[in-house]
Amino acid sequence: MKKKVFICGCKTERKIASETVEKWENTLIKNNIGYTLIEDLCGTAVKNPQDLLAIKEHKESVLLGCNSRAMEHVLFKAGIRMCCTEIEFLNMEIDHPDVISEISAKDGGSNLIPYKHEWKSWYPVIDYSKCSACQKCLNFCLFGVYKVDEYGIVHVDQPSNCKDMCPACARTCPEQAIIFPKHPESPIDGGEGQLEVLSQNDLMEQIQQNADVYKILADRRKQSGVSLLKDQEKIADAERSCCVSKNENQKVEKTKEDKPENSSGCSCGCNC
Ligand code: SF4
Ligand code: SF4
Repeated sequence: MKKKVFICGCKTERKIASETVEKWENTLIKNNIGYTLIEDLCGTAVKNPQDLLAIKEHKESVLLGCNSRAMEHVLFKAGIRMCCTEIEFLNMEIDHPDVISEISAKDGGSNLIPYKHEWKSWYPVIDYSKCSACQKCLNFCLFGVYKVDEYGIVHVDQPSNCKDMCPACARTCPEQAIIFPKHPESPIDGGEGQLEVLSQNDLMEQIQQNADVYKILADRRKQSGVSLLKDQEKIADAERSCCVSKNENQKVEKTKEDKPENSSGCSCGCNC
């Protein structure tokens, strides 16, 4: 079967330079390979996941973008499971465009999946093959990005609440299961390597320097007209300290194994 080629334009908070995307598009055109340009895969996965159905439906595709682990989990966020479709991931920064000529893909023509939102698609995705459902990220984040479901599984529930360029929760995850696809550094971006483990003091310092969380909270409070509990900020601060402390061994009782398989026998959580 001829594969369908998708290329991510990485339009907002760029991880991949526009020149790089252009170079790959030119190679596709030169080889008369039809492709679909997804203007911003990360953003579309959250704002218009139904626009990505073509990837799910085609069964065999090639996706040109950033790190394969990041793209796989961005697609998971959009409801596309690797058990249901075969996708070859290519990293436009690492792989050589000439590999394109070896792919048996649809001839000519191009389509566009536009991204028309203002929101810069900066948010975390969770690698569930690593996540132990410890809930540290949930307890750490002040902005309500994470939520736990009835089975004890932590989800990225409100990605657009995530503070631009703040990857702090990734450093609290003991399993290195949190990926920020648009982070400039590996392995936070889903690439190779070991995440530097910061001491409690270093982490707190980084948060204070990089995330003006208290100002943001105050602004939100003003905008929404909702008043927070008197000592909520202090409580949140204490939670963060607790979260990064060495002694915290708290585990949730319910784990992924508790989640029942669906009727098709697939245990990945999809509806295939
Ligand atoms: S970070 Fe990766 S998946 Fe996200 S928009 Fe950029 S290239 Fe696409
Ligand atoms: S901190 Fe990491 S391992 Fe714990 S629930 Fe969050 S993503 Fe999963």
